[in-house]
Amino acid sequence: MELIDEVRELVAATEAKSVELAREIWNYAELPFEEYKSAAALIAALKAEGFAVQEGVAEMPTCFVASYTVGSGKPRIGMLAEYDALSSLSQEAGCAVKKPVVNGAPGHGCGHNLLGAGCFSSAVAIKNYLVKHQKDGTIYFFGCPAEEGAGSKQFMARAGVFDDVDFIYSWHPSTNNGISATCSVAIMGANFIFDGIAAHAGGSPQLGRSALDACELMNVGCNYLREHTIDQARIHYAYSDCGGTAPNVVQAHACIKYEVRAPKVRQMQELFARVVNVARGAALMTDTKLTVEITMAFSDYVPNTALAEIANESFMELGTPAWTEADYALARDILASYDEGTAAAIRDEFIEQYGEDALPEIMEKPLDRSIERFEKSKMAYECGSTDVGDVGYVVPTVTLHTATACLGNVGHSWQNTAFSGSDIGMKGMMKAAEVMTLASLKAMDRPEVIQRAKAEVLRRNGGKYTCPLPDEVKPPVGRY
Ligand SMILES: [Zn+2]
Repeated sequence: MELIDEVRELVAATEAKSVELAREIWNYAELPFEEYKSAAALIAALKAEGFAVQEGVAEMPTCFVASYTVGSGKPRIGMLAEYDALSSLSQEAGCAVKKPVVNGAPGHGCGHNLLGAGCFSSAVAIKNYLVKHQKDGTIYFFGCPAEEGAGSKQFMARAGVFDDVDFIYSWHPSTNNGISATCSVAIMGANFIFDGIAAHAGGSPQLGRSALDACELMNVGCNYLREHTIDQARIHYAYSDCGGTAPNVVQAHACIKYEVRAPKVRQMQELFARVVNVARGAALMTDTKLTVEITMAFSDYVPNTALAEIANESFMELGTPAWTEADYALARDILASYDEGTAAAIRDEFIEQYGEDALPEIMEKPLDRSIERFEKSKMAYECGSTDVGDVGYVVPTVTLHTATACLGNVGHSWQNTAFSGSDIGMKGMMKAAEVMTLASLKAMDRPEVIQRAKAEVLRRNGGKYTCPLPDEVKPPVGRY
C-alpha cells in the first residue's frame, strides 16, 4: 500500500473520535488557563489510545505531555495542541446570524477546539503506523494551554519540555490552505505600576505625588519614542488601574499595561528596555515609585524551511478539503453577515489576491480550493505574535494551515466561532491531520532533512534556547 493511501486510511479511522472531541471542546469554550474540561477530554482520549500522559507540566495545571514510544523511541516527533477559547465570542455553530449560545460567554473564535482535536487525529494515526510497521519512534502530543492569554509554550520551552524532540509539525485553523512563509514578531508585556501619595487635590496638592500623572507622562514619552524605532516595532498600552474616579484625590496608585513588539526577539528586548527607561523618567518627574512586572513574552516565529519543503510536498499530494454545495452555501451566508465596511475590505482583499475577474466565482464559492506553497523568498514578518515562536528556537517547527472558515473571514469573530463548530471546520481539521501525518512520516525517513532543519535552529539560537522571560516570571495561572 502506498504511504499516502495508508495515511488517508489511518487518519479516517480517527475521524469519529476527533470530530466528537472538537465538538465537545467547542462546547466547553474555556478561557486561557481554565481549560480543565478540554484538557481532560483530550487526555482521556489519548490514554484510551495507549499514550502515557504527564499532567501539570511546567507549573500549569492544564498543560500536559502525552507520548507513545515504539522500539528505540527515535526519532522523536511532536505536535502542538491548543484548546483555549476567547471571551465574549459565544455563537451557535454553523449559524450565519449573530446568535450567542450564552450571551457574553466565551467562544472558539480562533478554532482551537479544532487545533487540539486535529493534533489528536494525527498523533493517533502516526502511533498506529509505527506500531503496525514496528518502526522506531516516539510521538509527542504537547497539550499547550492559554495561547490566547499569556501563552504556555515559552514556559514549556524554559522547562526543557521540547529539548529532545527532533521536529514538530503543527497546524492552525485558517481561511486558506497551505504552508505560509509569514513570520510572526516577538512580544513582551508588562505592568508598569506607579506608587505615589494621596492628598486633597484642592486643599493640599503640594503634599500629593500623582501615580496617574506618572502614567500620562510615560505615555507622552512613549509617543515621542515611537519616531525613533524601526518601522515594524509596535508599542501598545491600556490602563488597568487609573487610580480611582475622584478628580479631587491625588491618585496614589496606578497601573498601565504595555506590550512591545518587534520582529526579532533581540530587537524587541532592546525596545522594551527603552520603554522601561521612559517609565523611569516618568517616575523621576513625578516623584513616584515605579515597579515593572513582566507578565508575558513570546519569541518570533520563523517557519523552518527544511521542514516546510516536506509539508509542501505532502499537502500537494493530499489536496484540499472536499467541499460540498452545502458547505459553499454556509460559507456564502456567513460571508454575507459582515457589515458594509468589513465586506468592502474583504472584497478589496480578494481582488488584490485573485484579480477582479475571479471575484464572482469567489463570492459564489468562498472556500479555499488552492494550496499556498511555502516559498522561502516570500518569508516576511507580519505583526502578530504566537508562543509557537519559542518552540521554533528549540526544535525545528512548522505550522501549516487549512481552511476551516470562508475566504476573507475575520479572525477572533463570532463568525469564526460559528465555523469552528461547523462541518467546514471539521473538514479542514481532518485535512490538517492528514498533512501533519504524511509530512511527519516522510520526515522520519529523511535524516538529512532533519539535519538541515536542526542546523537552521542552531543558526538562530546559537546552540541554546534563551527564554525572553526572566526566571522569576512564572505562568500567570488564574491571574492573567
Ligand atoms: Zn489561534
